[in-house]
Formats: sequence, structure tokens, C-alpha cells
Amino acid sequence: MTRILAIADEVDEALYTDKLTRLRPDLVVSCGDLPFDYLEYIVSRLDVPLVYVPGNHDPGVRSSDPTWTPLRAEPPQPGPQGCENADGRVVTAAGIRIAGLGGSMRYKPGPNQYSEAEMRWRALSVEVRIKLNRARGGRKLDVLLTHAPPLGWGAPEDLAHRGFAAFLRLAKELAPKLLVHGHVHPYGRSQPERRLGGTQVINAVPSRVIEI
Ligand SMILES: [Zn+2]
Repeated sequence: MTRILAIADEVDEALYTDKLTRLRPDLVVSCGDLPFDYLEYIVSRLDVPLVYVPGNHDPGVRSSDPTWTPLRAEPPQPGPQGCENADGRVVTAAGIRIAGLGGSMRYKPGPNQYSEAEMRWRALSVEVRIKLNRARGGRKLDVLLTHAPPLGWGAPEDLAHRGFAAFLRLAKELAPKLLVHGHVHPYGRSQPERRLGGTQVINAVPSRVIEI
């Protein structure tokens, strides 16, 4: 059993108290749109990995400048320090295999926004990597970590908060135990247990502890 602390979109003030260490997570995942210093605070208080994807309000966190010539041994890492960016990648942390797809539906200029077609390509690239890895006897996907929800689980009338159909396909094809997303603010409404086939879907805003 792995205890995952999932966080997204709103700073949970309670995590600035001893409650954070009492939660005893094995792993922290962030679904994006959180201040980097909040993520750095959490990773510095807990001696466990923190894996994140960016949200649509986050700056671009790709190290994109191929002309960068480091003067020191290590180039500066964009994004929160001590945390692992899983955007468009498959990573393993605390023994859990995580695929990350950050960002939202494109609704204005800026980083971390995608059309459905762009997200479909990102999702396909993740799907191929997981399937190739499994063909070689590797571990199946445990957690799909996204910022936006799957299509039909957000706000269909609002482009920025519409989910991605690509996530429905990924959940079906890869059947992870868990899909964790943010972006959709529950505004105090309780979150019913939801499933997509064999995948439990959790809206992490502002924080949730999940055992898988
Ligand atoms: Zn968002």
C-alpha cells in the first residue's frame, strides 16, 4: 500500500502545520497551478519524492534552450527545486509508475495549453512508451497525473475547463489504478467517488490523501 498526498490549484493552509508530517505520505503528486515555493516547502518538510505536472497558470517549465552552455556543472533547472517534472514523461517514484500530462485546453496565448489534437499526440507518446515498456516486461502504469480532467468531467460549456478526450482513451488503454487531476475547483462541494472503467478518478483540489 502506498500513501499518496495529491495537491492541486489551491494552497491548503493546513499543510503549513504539523498536519503535513502527520499525513505520512510515501509520495506527493501535484496536479499544477500551485506556487513553486509551496511545492518546495512541502518537499523540504517531507523526505519523500514530489512529482508534478504544470497547470495552465504555471510558467513554462521545459528546459528548452539547446544553446545553453553551463558555466557550472549543472544547468539551472526550471520549475520548483527538488521536485520532478513528469509533464509528457513517464517516471517512477516511491515504486509507483506515473505518467504526467499537464496543461489545459488552449483558451489564450501562453504555455501549458493544448488543443485536443495536440494533447492527443502527447497522450499517444506516453501510451507508446508505457506499452513498449510493458512489452519488455516492465511495470504497468499506476497513476495518470494530469492538470485538466478527462472530457465530460469538467465544465463542458467553458473551453478553459473542458477536459480532454485523450485522457479517456489513455485510461481505457492503460487502465491505471488512479487518474488524479486538478483544474476544476470544487468550491466546497463534496467529491463523489468516480471511476472510468477500472481507474479511480480523483479531483485533488486542494489536497487529498489516496492509498493505492
Ligand atoms: Zn488550471
